[in-house]
Amino acid sequence: MPGRQALLTRPTGATEVAGIIGDPVRHSISPAIHNAAYQALGVDWVYVAFPVPAGQGANAVDAMRALGLAGLSVTMPHKAAVVDRLDHLENTAARLGVANTITRRQGEGGWELVGDSTDGAGFLSALRQDDGFDPSGRRCLILGTGGAARSVTLSLAEAGASSVDVVGRRPELVASCVELAGASGAAVDPDRGSLEKAVHVADLVVNATPVGMSPGDGLPFDLLGDWFRADQVVADLIYLPASTPLISAAREKGALTSNGLGMLIHQAARQIGIWTGRVAPLDVMSAAALAALSRRGTG
Ligand code: NAP
Repeated sequence: MPGRQALLTRPTGATEVAGIIGDPVRHSISPAIHNAAYQALGVDWVYVAFPVPAGQGANAVDAMRALGLAGLSVTMPHKAAVVDRLDHLENTAARLGVANTITRRQGEGGWELVGDSTDGAGFLSALRQDDGFDPSGRRCLILGTGGAARSVTLSLAEAGASSVDVVGRRPELVASCVELAGASGAAVDPDRGSLEKAVHVADLVVNATPVGMSPGDGLPFDLLGDWFRADQVVADLIYLPASTPLISAAREKGALTSNGLGMLIHQAARQIGIWTGRVAPLDVMSAAALAALSRRGTG
């Protein structure tokens, strides 16, 4: 006789379907994280990966509507493209102009699709719960100006950081990021002198560039490992590989370090909360993420 777990994981006609769209997405560990959570919660949900080529993000939203999918996670390169096809955007998604979460909910005239962005909130939860760091009143330095940097910048400013310094290669994107942070935002030039000063005063340094993912990568923006201190928190948003040259350098100086796995898990937890109304089982999700990474031989 099949066990309870087997019954819960077998979809029926009543099963709610959620998933992730991206390109590439077959490597994603989000299905492992979400399905482990649904199973632990005992909810009749299943989560799958939908490879959607660049340029097809808006069509994927139409497909979600037609198929009645209950929720979609959205990853590169579709986060901006889906926004115009949604019926409503929550505040964070509207401010950022991107959505990483789409929720089907009952509106007055039938189903409507709502976009949200859980990346920044996920980053903050990981920072507070896993690293024990509260950004309120603290000085933060963000490396990079892409989608992840923008989410993190906005969330740190909203959490009351005393300053959010942003460094990037393209001045117009730095300015746009700084604007998101309001009065606490400031641009940092990417020259060594300005960078050293910015690292020196920062309580928190966040790498939101992909530098550190590829073999042979060094530190982003020619940062020097010697600049870090033992009383700093250094967060790399990269989780594959689990450690980066930035993490190693900061750790060598005694700084508290973390990779991006916490952010990934906490943003998924927020999606599960929005979609199912349940409190996501973080421990189960974390174990599933580590197991999925180790199955790929890279965790
Ligand atoms: P993105 O939108 O493409 O932005 C990448 C940023 O990195 C841009 O500002 C880019 O600058 C900068 N950059 C790229 N190469 C650089 C280099 N060699 N030197 C200096 N800056 C460089 O990507 P994203 O979505 O923000 O993702 C950024 C990182 O965060 C990735 O590693 C991604 O895997 C990670 N991430 C993690 C999570 C999580 O849950 N843990 C979630 C989202 C993203 P230019 O504009 O000048 O090219």
